[in-house]
Amino acid sequence: MHSATVQPILTSPFAFPQRTLIDSILNLLFPVACVVCRAQVLERRWGAACPDCWSRLEPLAPPFCPQCGEPAPAIEGLCGRCRKGEYAFDLARSALFFTDTLREIIHHLKYAERVSLARSLGDILKVCLEHEPFSGRIVVPVPLHRKRERERGFNQAELIAARLGRSLETRLLRRRKNTPSQTGLSRSERKRNLAGAFEVRGPVAGTVILVDDVYTTGSTVHEIARTLKRAGAQRVEVLTVARVSNDFYRAAETDISEAV
Ligand SMILES: [Zn+2]
Ligand SMILES: [Zn+2]
Repeated sequence: MHSATVQPILTSPFAFPQRTLIDSILNLLFPVACVVCRAQVLERRWGAACPDCWSRLEPLAPPFCPQCGEPAPAIEGLCGRCRKGEYAFDLARSALFFTDTLREIIHHLKYAERVSLARSLGDILKVCLEHEPFSGRIVVPVPLHRKRERERGFNQAELIAARLGRSLETRLLRRRKNTPSQTGLSRSERKRNLAGAFEVRGPVAGTVILVDDVYTTGSTVHEIARTLKRAGAQRVEVLTVARVSNDFYRAAETDISEAV
C-alpha cells in the first residue's frame, strides 16, 4: 500500500560494521533469532531483529498534513481535523508506517521484553526528529500507569526517547488513570476514557516534545497536550515511531493500539 519510495533511512545510523569477534562468540553461545522472520541475527547491534527486517520498514514520507502528519495521497494545507482545531498539539510526526513488520517489532519490545529493539527504534526516531521542524528541547515520554509499568518492568516510550540525545523529563507527567484497552473504541469513546488521565507535576514552559511508540488516532497525545498547555507549555510537538494512518484505522477497526 505504501510502497512508493523507500528511502535509505537505515543506512546512516546503521552502517554495516565488520562483525566483531565478541559477536561471533556470543552467536555460538546464545544465538538470537529475528523476532519477525526467525533468521539468526548475527550482529548484536541490531537487537533482536535482522538487518533484512529492519530495512523492510517503510519511512513515512510526504505528502502528509503539515500539522498532525496524517498521510494523504495529496494534500494542500491542513487536513480536515486540523482545520477544525481538533488537536491540542501543534505538530506531530512519525518515522515509519505501522506495517506488519513494525507491529511485530513493537509487540516484542513491549510484551516479550526484547528491550534491545528500543535502541534501533530510537535511532530511527532521532533521524526523524532531526529532519522535521521540531523546536522543543525537553523530551517527555508518554507515561504508562505505575501499575502497568511495574508489570512490564519498563516504559517502552522512555527507552526509545532515551536515544534521542536531548534532555529527558520522565517525572513531569504522570498517568493517573490506568485506562483500559482502547481497542475497538471510537474516537469519542477514547476521548472520554482519557479525560483527566494525565497530570503534570511541576512547572512547564516553552516547547515540549512528546514521544510515544505508536500514533493511532491521536487521542492520547491530544489529551496530554491539553494537560501540558493548561500547565503552562506554549507548544507541544509529538514524535512517534509508528503511524497508523486513518485509512488503515478505518479499514481494520481491530486491535491496533493494544495489539502492538
Ligand atoms: Zn528478520
Ligand atoms: Zn492534520
